[in-house]
Amino acid sequence: MTRESGARPGGPPVTGHGGGVWSIKVPIPDNPLGFTLVHLLDTDGGPVLIDTGWDDPASWSTLVAGLGACGVAVEDVTGVVITHHHPDHHGLSARVREASGAWIAMHEADAAVVRRTRSTPAEHWYGYMAAKLTAAGAPAGHVAPLLRAAADGRPRKLPGLDPALPDRSITPGELLDLPGRRLRAIWTPGHTPGHVCLHLEEDHPAGLPGNGRLFSGDHLLPGITPHIGLYEDPDDDTVTDPLSDYLDSLERVGRLGPAEVLPAHQRAFTGAPARVRELLAHHEDRLTGLLALLSEPLTPWRLAERMEWNRPWADIPAGSRSIAVSEAEAHVRHLVKLGRAEAAAGSDPVTYVAV
Ligand SMILES: [Zn+2]
Ligand SMILES: [Zn+2]
Repeated sequence: MTRESGARPGGPPVTGHGGGVWSIKVPIPDNPLGFTLVHLLDTDGGPVLIDTGWDDPASWSTLVAGLGACGVAVEDVTGVVITHHHPDHHGLSARVREASGAWIAMHEADAAVVRRTRSTPAEHWYGYMAAKLTAAGAPAGHVAPLLRAAADGRPRKLPGLDPALPDRSITPGELLDLPGRRLRAIWTPGHTPGHVCLHLEEDHPAGLPGNGRLFSGDHLLPGITPHIGLYEDPDDDTVTDPLSDYLDSLERVGRLGPAEVLPAHQRAFTGAPARVRELLAHHEDRLTGLLALLSEPLTPWRLAERMEWNRPWADIPAGSRSIAVSEAEAHVRHLVKLGRAEAAAGSDPVTYVAV
């Protein structure tokens, strides 16, 4: 298959990566990330998408125009492979399936999140978040709006609350059923419990050295690190360690040594093992910094207040503070697991201190 296309001024934002692979920049409205790179993969069974983009009319028309620039009608898409359940990746999947009858494939752990998102009543969710934040040391003023929303029976107003149920499960380590292509699923939990990278086990079309190409989703990005928080599940109290999962998953994709990485944000890049080392060092530095902060006992909330973010704590809106606290908790949990921090006996809400 020989269709190729590059970005043309004024045309849809499409890049041909060679060897039957294209990326389409699908905008994410009002988000500093700017866009999701939706990848199109030609197969002998028809075109397949890796991720679909944000559910918004402008994003949809960009996706359709981008596919058109690659010579593909959206009706012709035969399958959708989802790296993870977040709305900037899975948002348009239902629409693509409606238009084309394509199957949607996702790892079971993220499919479980999708089922839960669709079925958890709003007040159950508000109550769960309020309890979780209170236990993390959040002040009453931060938790009050959640309790009010629960009491008023207010529906949740967030994007991606009605995500598409997948039709197929992605099995880690196995090739996807794509005629004429070798695309293997690499389970990379951390950013979400069911995040997968997809390894295209074919020679690089431009002859770059390395092992094929890696569609890395949000797991491995050239200039930013993905959010690592706790896996939030109101119906499961398993004590998970997402940061450990993430660091292990990073080493796994570093060992693959792909010739090129095709991530879902920013830009394609080479040098995956070096980028992995950089990220591992970044996380090690951050954990060392947190241990210094934990020379005095702190709740996750107090720790989050003292951590470095992309702006001062005072300027961080409430919703983002909740996400920051989840990230602080994920780090504390990892330090506890490593034996580098512990819960202070008898503290309520629980405080943690370096050991
Ligand atoms: Zn994500
Ligand atoms: Zn993303």
